[in-house]
Amino acid sequence: MVEQINKDLYRIGVPLPGNPLKELNSYVLLGKKRNLIVDTGFNMPTCKEAMNKGIMEIGIPQNSFDLFITHVHSDHCGLVKYLSGVNNKVYCSNYTSYAFNGSYGNKVLYGYFNDMVVQSGLPMMELDIHPGIQYAPETIGEDNIIIIRDKDVINLGDWKLQFIMTTGHAPEHVCLYDKKRKILFSGDHILDGITPNNTVWSSPWRSKKDLLGEYLANLDKIDKLEIDVTYPAHRNKIIDTHGRIGELKDHHAKRLNSILAILGKSKMNGVEVASKMQWDLRGQTWGNFNIIHKLFATGEALSHLVHLVCLGVLKEELYDGIVYYSKLN
Ligand SMILES: [Zn+2]
Ligand SMILES: [Zn+2]
Repeated sequence: MVEQINKDLYRIGVPLPGNPLKELNSYVLLGKKRNLIVDTGFNMPTCKEAMNKGIMEIGIPQNSFDLFITHVHSDHCGLVKYLSGVNNKVYCSNYTSYAFNGSYGNKVLYGYFNDMVVQSGLPMMELDIHPGIQYAPETIGEDNIIIIRDKDVINLGDWKLQFIMTTGHAPEHVCLYDKKRKILFSGDHILDGITPNNTVWSSPWRSKKDLLGEYLANLDKIDKLEIDVTYPAHRNKIIDTHGRIGELKDHHAKRLNSILAILGKSKMNGVEVASKMQWDLRGQTWGNFNIIHKLFATGEALSHLVHLVCLGVLKEELYDGIVYYSKLN
């Protein structure tokens, strides 16, 4: 499904079968010499077909566009090899490139899952069923990849696009911003109607990386920009971006308070905390979550627990390889 948003901007709705996100918004920005496609969908036939149809309907030749990948998740970068072809360039941050530059196989990229599963108290699982691994991109040549840094700018027809590093939802995540047109492409940093999933991307035990803390700081970073409209990677466009940022910050503040209430005076591991939190997944409760839902939910709980440890509110202890959290005072 293709939607023309304005004269030089299209959205291709890329179905994500079986995924609660339902669809990825792939944006196509038209320039004079080159065009730019923002995010691709999973590496699977349904997504390939939707992208092919969309690109054909918009009427841009295969060799006329470059790609920009917001972050490492496979629903965003799965089709990098297929779409970059021989000469099309791929703009992405350094960490994101690990998914498809051959230096860091997906088994390694998702290797931290094992530590997360064991240390949170989840039962061992076959990680091949994770959609991020199942639909991961194939390797592309280093020559196709252009590593971007915070504040780098590219010009494309009437677009003057600035890359804005917004780490948190992933170890590196980049938004795209046109200051003059006051348009933001937010990837998964800011979504409407759903809160972007936060997790841990390293062993939870003594994790030094407070990704939720970085995520919240990067919401503030975006809040400082003048934005008329935000185009996210899933769901609808956002008109009141600053209002939505406020809602996301409130959500996490409530989550942190509810976790402190769940812990009370006891000691709990990640799974015990996650199983007592409130989840909004198509009316399902923890008891009927499948193992992948439990993995996502536990990751979300851990990102908040690690944040509270980094803030000095909680302490962590290791018993039999599982990390337990409790209040410091
Ligand atoms: Zn994502
Ligand atoms: Zn996504």
